Amino acid sequence: MTIKQYEVLKRASLFLEENNREPRFAELLLQHHLGLSRSAFFLNMRETIPEEVYHAFQTDLEKHVNTGIPLQHLTGYEEFYGRRFQVNESVLIPRPETEELVQHTIAAVNFRGNQKVRIVDVGTGSGIIAITLALELPEADVFATDISQAALHVARANAARLGAEVTFFEGDFLQPLTERQLPVDILVSNPPYIAEAERTELHDTVKNFDPDLALFAADDGLAAYKKIMKHATKLINRNGLIAFEIGHMQGEAVKRLVEESFPDSNVEIIQDINGKDRIILAKIG
Ligand code: GLN
Repeated sequence: MTIKQYEVLKRASLFLEENNREPRFAELLLQHHLGLSRSAFFLNMRETIPEEVYHAFQTDLEKHVNTGIPLQHLTGYEEFYGRRFQVNESVLIPRPETEELVQHTIAAVNFRGNQKVRIVDVGTGSGIIAITLALELPEADVFATDISQAALHVARANAARLGAEVTFFEGDFLQPLTERQLPVDILVSNPPYIAEAERTELHDTVKNFDPDLALFAADDGLAAYKKIMKHATKLINRNGLIAFEIGHMQGEAVKRLVEESFPDSNVEIIQDINGKDRIILAKIG
């Protein structure tokens, strides 16, 4: 059996389209199975694909069509802020919106002019925020917490592989820092913020594969922010900063939560590149 790459790609893209899946998935998955870079993949288009590669690709393709399994669970990684992070079913797959959160956080820290800050990433998951900040702000001390041991395992492996120095603590949101009385200058978090009532609206790729722990929060999705803010008053230094990723309808509510805890703060609601409210950036007085 000789199968040309472009034929496999064409058939797979059509198969995806017919099943209401993103056709580009085929290109990315096949590229992964062939172990080729993007440009090598396109130059290879007229070549024949080894049969075992074809079968492995086809199996993954069908799995995706039938279950919605995301590409990142098949390949085992996702790119974030220019680096490759290992992911699995224990962690939320990194989203581009969170790159924007990190970008705003770095800009705010640099604007202060002093990078010798202590940062905590609350609910770190795969570690993307904490690790990126540690690498981009080499003078900062970075802590990260997560309640999930399995997530911390992934985060620690990512930190080790990328050569980032992050201190990880197991525990609920800010609890580990409260216990250790560790104050911080910068609090950054992408906590769970989806209301349980919205579960049915989520894509199967998200609701069946991203961990519930990373997605859903009680109180219309605000419970995590409330829990974090409860501890934050005792932990955030003067002139500190809070950077939260938020759901696109939560801007005013989260702003109010921060202002209740820190009446002197200056709280900004920032939109993502899709024009949706996505980030709360609070300068603490
Ligand atoms: N941004 C994620 C989504 O849209 C949700 C992640 C979260 O709740 N922090 O699925």
